[in-house]
Amino acid sequence: MNATARRCNGCTACCDGWVRILVQGFEARPGQPCPHSTGSGCDDYANRPADPCVNFNCGWVVPQSPLPDWMKPDKAKVLVLFNKTNWQGVPVDLALPVGRRIPGRCLDWLKAFAQRQRRLLLYAEQVKEQGRFSGEQLIYAFGPPAFRAAIAEQQQRGAALW
Ligand code: SF4
Ligand code: SF4
Repeated sequence: MNATARRCNGCTACCDGWVRILVQGFEARPGQPCPHSTGSGCDDYANRPADPCVNFNCGWVVPQSPLPDWMKPDKAKVLVLFNKTNWQGVPVDLALPVGRRIPGRCLDWLKAFAQRQRRLLLYAEQVKEQGRFSGEQLIYAFGPPAFRAAIAEQQQRGAALW
């Protein structure tokens, strides 16, 4: 454990649409950053809304984050949201790529962490069409077969995963 007071310091991964958010009516999504994002910060930080900005629970910034220093979203190209949902009482974390795919080193770390801590993991890949992010995501499940089957069944039904 580390990270007593981590700072964003130039990262804008959550502002740049890698987490799909609605900011004052604007839909930020991959390829479509929040208009206030400068690429290194927020140009209206003092007036940023409580939701989704102030209350955003970035897994790298949260107090006592288990994520290592090197997994800062802008550097490691992954953004983790702990406890996004749960399955049969087991916490499910969500990992989103900052870019198209989560780098292998990060995914390996997250899978090992999930196994060690008896947690479950959903992770995404952004879909690109004709060189552009379509806004769609492929979601993969990591965990025991029953969890993977449940997620596959939810996806087939078109049910929300979280
Ligand atoms: S993704 Fe995390 S570290 Fe990056 S700007 Fe958002 S809250 Fe800060
Ligand atoms: S208003 Fe500022 S803090 Fe909120 S998403 Fe936009 S750039 Fe980020």
